[in-house]
Amino acid sequence: MISQTVLKKISNSVGHEHLITDKGSMAEYASDATKLEFMPDAVAFPGTPREISRILRLASKEGFPVTPRGAGSGMSGGALPVKGGLVMAMNRLDRILVIDEENFITKVEPGVITAHLQEAVERVGLFYPPDPASLNVSTIGGNVAECAGGLRAVKYGVTRDYVLGMTVVIPTGEIINTGVETMKGVAGYDLTRLLIGSEGTLAVITGITLRLIPRPAARKTMAALFPDILSAAKTVSGIIKNKIVPTILELIDRLCLDCVREEMGLSIPRDAGAMLLIEVDGDELLVEKEARSIREVCARGGALTFEAASGVEEADRLWEARRNVSPSLYKLRPHKINEDVVVPRSRLAELAAHLDELGEKYGLPIAAFGHAGDGNIHVNIMFDKENPREEENAKTLIRGLFGKVLQMGGTITGEHGVGITKAPYLGLEIPQAGLQLMSRIKTAFDPKGILNPGKIFS
Ligand SMILES: Cc1cc2nc3c(=O)[nH]c(=O)nc-3n(C[C@H](O)[C@H](O)[C@H](O)COP(=O)(O)OP(=O)(O)OC[C@H]3O[C@@H](n4cnc5c(N)ncnc54)[C@H](O)[C@@H]3O)c2cc1C
Repeated sequence: MISQTVLKKISNSVGHEHLITDKGSMAEYASDATKLEFMPDAVAFPGTPREISRILRLASKEGFPVTPRGAGSGMSGGALPVKGGLVMAMNRLDRILVIDEENFITKVEPGVITAHLQEAVERVGLFYPPDPASLNVSTIGGNVAECAGGLRAVKYGVTRDYVLGMTVVIPTGEIINTGVETMKGVAGYDLTRLLIGSEGTLAVITGITLRLIPRPAARKTMAALFPDILSAAKTVSGIIKNKIVPTILELIDRLCLDCVREEMGLSIPRDAGAMLLIEVDGDELLVEKEARSIREVCARGGALTFEAASGVEEADRLWEARRNVSPSLYKLRPHKINEDVVVPRSRLAELAAHLDELGEKYGLPIAAFGHAGDGNIHVNIMFDKENPREEENAKTLIRGLFGKVLQMGGTITGEHGVGITKAPYLGLEIPQAGLQLMSRIKTAFDPKGILNPGKIFS
């Protein structure tokens, strides 16, 4: 519990109108996309790095937990105040400070919404590629803290590939600049990379310098239906083997197609067992050439149908199925565990076969969709919490899934992070010595353990 005296000091730092303590107003800061709930003692909305520094110094002295929060769209519980204390919300730090068209960089505050930054840079012919599906709500700070991926990662990489430098406040209150504002820079340890994906456990990010690239001139969206997931997965490998790196290469399995077909009234043929959604971008002539090659590879892979959108509206129609997959799955069971495993993309077919085996063994529907182009598949295990046997089976199934993914040379999380939901499994992937080193790094940044405690390390 944070005492009234300490709350008064926090209020003096941020201004009383930027601190809330009543449960009703704090409810939206007690949860995130996991739908788990932990009520904080207070929520502060600082407006400057100096205010954040003062609060962290106070927290280190008084020993209360501080949990940084962006938009709360995280899928692993990173923004949840699991030990109570203060939620530090970034809502007020939401300015795009610079878009430098000569040096292709932008400087932003952490609370900028991802889509707002993309629109702003695209207006001047530049491009910020990382596009988590949550981009209309998620913040750049949250993206950096989670190293968010997205649909375009197959061609353009993830958030990490665009962060040049940051301003951060470490838990002892010191304000530190990391990295550079230039395209190159190797002075000292790469603290920027260490902080990217640190899930708000090492520092509060207060400023970010991002690399931009020129906006691609043209793009083309295509959709192909296959009789089964194996032929679709082999086509993914076929496209890449053909030396084409699409901007987007998404896979949707039979169970997902069945759900969206009924839910949305989409005309997807009954014999379709998988769909690939593919997008290419770049120079207009190249886009047309790559689209033709992709059509040929899909035909060779046994595609039942192939459609190429001729404009934005048609492309939007092709995306409709993908957009609606996630919510439509609840018709299978009332609860869902969404795992974001990654395997080498050449082994997608093997993963698909394993998911079938697991589903049959544990009697649970498993729906898979996601970023096939980079081997990052969202595996949705559907179950009913009211049925203790199903809940138990879902948990056992996850261990089996992670075991197989690691054996295939993959990872248990490609973009959602560890937070609290994956903490019990991290030891499966990272050996003890690695975990101990990470823990010593955490202590070096945060000797009092006040920043986002209870995360990553179980
Ligand atoms: C529908 C949906 C689709 C999604 N699609 C994708 C996807 O395609 N790819 C993907 O990678 N993720 C995806 N996500 C997950 C989520 O949107 C991302 O992890 C996103 O980066 C979280 O941003 P946020 O602003 O909501 O952060 P929050 O959820 O508020 O916080 C996430 C973590 O970042 C920390 N944090 C936030 N701000 C700061 C800061 N300024 N300083 C230090 N730490 C901070 C928090 O402490 C927490 O640990 C999706 C989520 C939803 C709900």
